[in-house]
Amino acid sequence: MQKTVYLDNNATTAVAPEVVEAMLPFFKTQWGNPSSLHTFGSSTRRHLDEAREKVAALIGAADASEIIFTSCGSESNNMAILGAASAMGGRPHVLTSQVEHSAVLGPCGKLEKEGCRVDRISVDGGGQLKLNTLNEILAESNNPLLASFMWANNETGVIFSVAELAAQIHGAGGLFHTDAVQAVGKLPINMQEVPVDMLSLSGHKLHAPKGIGALYVRRGTRMDPLMLGGHQERARRAGTENVPYIVGLGKACELVLEKMGGDTLRATQQRDRLEAGILATCKGAGVNGDPASRLPNTTNISFEHLEGEGTLLMLDDICVCVSTGAACESGSIEASHVLKAMDVPRSRMQGAIRFSVGRYTTDAEIDFVLEQLPPIIQRQRELSPRTND
Ligand code: PLP
Repeated sequence: MQKTVYLDNNATTAVAPEVVEAMLPFFKTQWGNPSSLHTFGSSTRRHLDEAREKVAALIGAADASEIIFTSCGSESNNMAILGAASAMGGRPHVLTSQVEHSAVLGPCGKLEKEGCRVDRISVDGGGQLKLNTLNEILAESNNPLLASFMWANNETGVIFSVAELAAQIHGAGGLFHTDAVQAVGKLPINMQEVPVDMLSLSGHKLHAPKGIGALYVRRGTRMDPLMLGGHQERARRAGTENVPYIVGLGKACELVLEKMGGDTLRATQQRDRLEAGILATCKGAGVNGDPASRLPNTTNISFEHLEGEGTLLMLDDICVCVSTGAACESGSIEASHVLKAMDVPRSRMQGAIRFSVGRYTTDAEIDFVLEQLPPIIQRQRELSPRTND
């Protein structure tokens, strides 16, 4: 069977072998409950603390106590937005963007239904926030502000200027959350240099397993818990801690810190070579998203007048994994809300494919895709009724 060429690392990543090794003892022998009074259970607490230190180190948090373990990035986003809104008295003016992940748009929509004003700021053709619109809205806002702007977009890789945005929201007396699920592990992040109050991250985007995430909450930030019950995570998230996965996330964060320099350089070179090769060999191909401010591993390419699903399936036939948009949203033929917000022309919107390289992508795999893709696009064009327009 042909080996899988996995170019969908923004959807999820392979669990690093070092992470699996680090987790195994907590399934096999050290499976106690960290809240137990006996030594067998309580001795696992040290490992939770160590993992918390490692996550804090990766994002430059001042104190490990600012890290709350959650089940995923979606939970972290929900907890930040709904928990902060509740602590603010339940009726903040919510600011977000049109291109956020559904795990941010969902809780913002819930707050809107409950009576909050929610403004979803539009973006320009490159996927960057329209700052004029944001400034106008800020000038006429008179409620306490709660802002949530993503650090990097999952579909295009476009990076928002989070430090400046957070400073602006703080200047207006507001609270700032960022969905950094795609940024953590790919970009250097230092919470002591950016005035962000809350930051979401997800293990499975950085070579830890699915089912573990974290929310950074800056000391002093008020946030009500969503999950009530036990006093775990300093009473901010009830539930017996998922020790093996927390240990895995800690190990994955440690590995990112060790490998980030090399991983980023290789990802950028592979992404750039892939992108340049595709643009040179595939008729009607064009990149979506501001190339000057993009994640190092991501390129979103539209093939004019084609259906992305068709291209994806033909690549799948030769075991090449890509995405037509956010993985959790594909399966529906709806065009991507991100590309729609960027006003990508209809002729290019349906044909968009996201390629996202990762730590284990090889140069040979990039060569393989560069060789296989042009005939696939050519064949798609022959099958497409719009070939000649
Ligand atoms: N936010 C962004 C930007 C994402 O890309 C994703 C996952 O694709 C999420 C949030 C949700 O993370 P999780 O899958 O851990 O719930």
